Amino acid sequence: MGKGRSKIVMLGAPGSGKGTRAKIISERLSIPVISTGEILREEIHKGTDLGKQVKSDLDSGKLVSDETINGILKKRLSMPDCENGFILDGVPRTLTQAKYLESMGIDIDYAVSVEIEDEKIVDRLAGRRVCPNCGRGYHTDMFADSSDELCEDCGCKLAKRKDDEEETVRERLRVYYELTEPLKDYYEQSNKLIKVSGDDKLSEIAKNVLRAMGLD
Ligand code: ADP
Repeated sequence: MGKGRSKIVMLGAPGSGKGTRAKIISERLSIPVISTGEILREEIHKGTDLGKQVKSDLDSGKLVSDETINGILKKRLSMPDCENGFILDGVPRTLTQAKYLESMGIDIDYAVSVEIEDEKIVDRLAGRRVCPNCGRGYHTDMFADSSDELCEDCGCKLAKRKDDEEETVRERLRVYYELTEPLKDYYEQSNKLIKVSGDDKLSEIAKNVLRAMGLD
């Protein structure tokens, strides 16, 4: 796969490790990761009108409206860094969003589905921490105690995302199975689906994802 064949969608449940794998592919192909979740959290952080409008959806684990997401996508994909391709992380999440991409003339090359069992997800997200400054993700397993939970890159105290509370995680999973999982069939029908394990050892993740994509 070379340049020009690099319009990639990441699929997978919340906490499956989509973001980690998106970053690995992004570095290998030098194309940006576009995460609608990140864009929305940034808007909330900055207190914009959009941020105010979507805050309660994110806090409760509901999806933001297709209209809002499609607007964000249109704007972001028109930026010059998307010219050689991009990786969509967390979008499309509904059939309407997938069809909107097509209506913009965007032909997705690959949909990478990160596969993991449900029981692992709740545990994983309960221990997930993020750096509030640079967004780098961690798991509490790495740390002996909570006073050690500092970002290795910028030294900031790590935070827990509000929507990683157990009840909200269960709602996010419910929404995922209802609205997003059907997209796997959708991309499979056009032979675009690539499945990767979300349960690899840390040291194997990069090798396995790049191999599955024919990039090693
Ligand atoms: P995760 O994949 O871990 O659930 P994200 O960071 O991708 O988390 O998304 C967080 C929240 O942002 C979602 O629960 C939802 O409220 C909102 N969101 C992000 N992307 C979309 C999308 N494509 N469509 C609708 N809502 C979205």
